[in-house]
Amino acid sequence: MAALDGLPPLRDVIQRHGLDAKKALGQNFLLDLNLTQKIARTAGPIENHTVIEVGPGPGGLTRAILALGAKRVIAIERDARCLPALAEISDHYPGRLTVIEGDALKTDFEALAPGEPVRIIANLPYNVGTQLLVNWLLPKTWPPFWDSLTLMFQREVGLRIVAEENDDHYGRLGVLCGWRTDARMAFDVPPQAFTPPPKVTSSVVHLEPVANPLPCDVAALERVTHAAFGQRRKMLRQSVKSLGGEALLARAEIDAQRRAETLSVEEFVRLANALG
Ligand code: SAM
Repeated sequence: MAALDGLPPLRDVIQRHGLDAKKALGQNFLLDLNLTQKIARTAGPIENHTVIEVGPGPGGLTRAILALGAKRVIAIERDARCLPALAEISDHYPGRLTVIEGDALKTDFEALAPGEPVRIIANLPYNVGTQLLVNWLLPKTWPPFWDSLTLMFQREVGLRIVAEENDDHYGRLGVLCGWRTDARMAFDVPPQAFTPPPKVTSSVVHLEPVANPLPCDVAALERVTHAAFGQRRKMLRQSVKSLGGEALLARAEIDAQRRAETLSVEEFVRLANALG
């Protein structure tokens, strides 16, 4: 499609720079600029924000974020082949795009734009997406350095992020996200929107930090959710046996006959705090 920002169509960019998609890097590119704009708009106002993007690839989403007026974009890309294409975008928007070649999993995100309001927007590589989200949910201090996360995942992962109790997708990720954020499903994206198309539907989720999450030790919360969901079909008296079983549940005032997926986030926090 014709680009609205005066830059060449993404298909030409990909061809000119020889950016054939590498599966190992989770490369499924979005070429539809209406869709990339929809993702960028989901983040909310960005004019006063520094936007951090993981995995810009040939730059479709990057271009949408810049065209929508982000003050500044810092993009972390592991594939050096993409850098010349991204340099063209940087030249088109002088002083607004910084590209860092590197592995997002090894990046100190808090140090990228200290003191500036930050939103994170990304069509994440599937193999590292969940780990990155967990890292962003567990910074040293809270509220975190970011004002929002607008992220594309496989739909299955998106459902786990927004899941609440009594939902089949509810698990450790849902508890963690429900504890520290307001997470919502924004919209689905079908496989054919990508080049090459992945096997499954994707979803964009949007998370904002809650100002005052219930006080709880992260490691304790991880231990109780790991134990409880490790045997999700069993009664809690069995699944959390190694952590204190019925005595622990009694201290948290939770019925030992219940199952993990019926506990609210608040009840998991109680359980973690009862662990001591
Ligand atoms: N943002 C582009 C788009 O929407 O079309 C590309 C998204 S593609 C799903 C994921 C991108 O993340 C690829 O460009 C890939 O090279 C990059 N990537 C993969 N692993 C990465 C990592 N560990 N750190 C940074 N970038 C990574």
